[in-house]
Amino acid sequence: MPTSCLTVEARRLDALYKLNLLDTPASEAFDRITRMAANLFKLPIAAISLTDADRQWFKSRVGVEHDSIPRMRAPCGQVADSSDVLVIPDLAQDDYYRNSVLAEKGIRYYAGAPLTTTDGHCLGAMCVLGTEPRDTTPEELTALCDLAGMVMAQIELQHALGRVDAVSGLPNRHQFIEDFDDLQLDAGEGEQRLAVLLNLATPDQLTHAARAMKSTYLDELVTEGARWLRAEIGPGHRMYHVATAQFMLLSSPGETLASWLPRVEARMQKAQIIARSHHMATPSAGVVPFDVNHDDALSVLRKARSAAFDAMASPNHVAVYSQEEDALYQRRFSLLNDFSAALQSRDQLRLVFQPRIDVASGECIGAEALLRWIHPTLGAIGPAEFIPIVERSGLAQATTAWVLEEALRHQQAWRHAGLALQVSVNVSAANLTENGFAASVAACLARHHLPADCLELEITESAIMEQPVKAHATLAEIAALGVGLAIDDFGTGYSSLSYLQKMPADVVKIDQSFIRNLERDTRQQALVTAMITLSQDLGHRVVAEGVESDAVLAFLRHAGCEEAQGYLFAAPLEAADFAAYSCPISTSALRVPKLTLSPRTTAVLPE
Ligand code: C2E
Ligand code: MG
Ligand code: MG
Repeated sequence: MPTSCLTVEARRLDALYKLNLLDTPASEAFDRITRMAANLFKLPIAAISLTDADRQWFKSRVGVEHDSIPRMRAPCGQVADSSDVLVIPDLAQDDYYRNSVLAEKGIRYYAGAPLTTTDGHCLGAMCVLGTEPRDTTPEELTALCDLAGMVMAQIELQHALGRVDAVSGLPNRHQFIEDFDDLQLDAGEGEQRLAVLLNLATPDQLTHAARAMKSTYLDELVTEGARWLRAEIGPGHRMYHVATAQFMLLSSPGETLASWLPRVEARMQKAQIIARSHHMATPSAGVVPFDVNHDDALSVLRKARSAAFDAMASPNHVAVYSQEEDALYQRRFSLLNDFSAALQSRDQLRLVFQPRIDVASGECIGAEALLRWIHPTLGAIGPAEFIPIVERSGLAQATTAWVLEEALRHQQAWRHAGLALQVSVNVSAANLTENGFAASVAACLARHHLPADCLELEITESAIMEQPVKAHATLAEIAALGVGLAIDDFGTGYSSLSYLQKMPADVVKIDQSFIRNLERDTRQQALVTAMITLSQDLGHRVVAEGVESDAVLAFLRHAGCEEAQGYLFAAPLEAADFAAYSCPISTSALRVPKLTLSPRTTAVLPE
């Protein structure tokens, strides 16, 4: 049955169930009112009786043993059906109630006043009962109705608690969810509505405010935001305070995205101006169209939030929910979740090794360890996708630890077999601010009985620049161990020549974006020549990344570049293949016992 066709009784029951009153324990707040009713009428029995589908359940009772009676022929049921006061002076004389359960139990008198919600649903009755027939004065009836009013005030007060935000005074997320479900009661099939989520500040701004200001700052931001929104939207529109600095609003029926969006945008423009002068916060708004009958409150809330976060990057700070962006975000989120399991698994992660070649002699003098991930259901995930996600998460340190351990495990076996090559491991920005990182590198070397100079760590300039002072201190500690340091992807991201000069790095790796089209681009050639000269003048060895052709190699040799890495020599190789590549004579002696079973034995292009 479509929800819009719900009967009056179904709606009444819905209202009753939402209050979560049925079968709850007795409460003094209600018992006090019941006692007053019995005293006022000088009767032995009084009850707050709620009309369920097939029973009268007593939230509070005086002089009644059972906590419920059947609804059939119960006078309180009639009160609930009619929403009217009901007085039966003598049940024994009443044609309908003469054979009721109450009459059978010796009840003769009944008076009940309706318990009606502000929405007009009658939940049951505040009733008094006696064992003798009796008349009722108008004053008594007024008092009974007043007591029923007090019961309802108590019910609605209890219900409102936990549903209104104490700071903004607006209905909260619980109320939003409940009201959202109620939309279905009146909606036609396929009815579309719009939801907008207003975010008062970016997560960064909230964090900074929480760190730097008293907590009243956030309260003021929220109060002022709510006041502004109320004034903008006007009465008759419900707004919800759904999270610390987030408000939610639903469109009226009949609004379309085309008619609504310009109004949201205009309001956001005003909000930016006000925010700039008052709150030092950047508001953004996310709009999501939804189907009243098919979308649920929490998914609409999530989508609106996701759009509001996307809106932070848009020029007018308003964004409409995009399924593609959302899918991308969800994939990133689930990849991060799954990567945590991958670190624990024995067969999802492995290292491949890309040879580093001495340009003058053409010999392999080392290798860069590169991480590969075979996801159990999604298959191979490229590092370009998962590394940035991992590096921004709390897993960055554990990942480097895994790579370091695994790279040195291979290195130890190679050394044991007489292959003395340096292995480079990429480290993340998080490692540079990690307490005791240098000590853990030293411990890992010691565990594998390896000298410090068999290892090089690659760090990007951007990673260093995230927290330059701390990074510099960590790099100095690593350099002091005798471990090599390379600046990776040089020329991209945040470059600072003054930092390059201070870096304890031995090697600069020029990013492949400068190398790729070198043979055709003369400006690029000038740039790379300058990079090589500058780096060498500052005492660094230079490695060119992404060398794919003989012409580029010839240019680099001519420019004095010491080392090269790229598909011209080899793509990243499985560990065993790398050993064979770098020392073709005694390959069998160089095989390292595998930690993981790799599906590949040949060259591994980036996945
Ligand atoms: P990167 O450190 O600059 O590594 C070099 C990347 O260039 C590798 O990509 C390599 O396969 C690719 N490459 C090498 N030669 C050529 C070439 O001639 N042409 C082209 N087009 N590409 C070439 P990969 O393996 O996909 O790794 C991408 C990035 O992911 C790495 O860039 C590095 O930043 C990151 N990464 C990989 N493994 C790890 C790791 O274990 N830890 C961390 N923190 N980052 C890693
Ligand atoms: Mg690298
Ligand atoms: Mg690189």
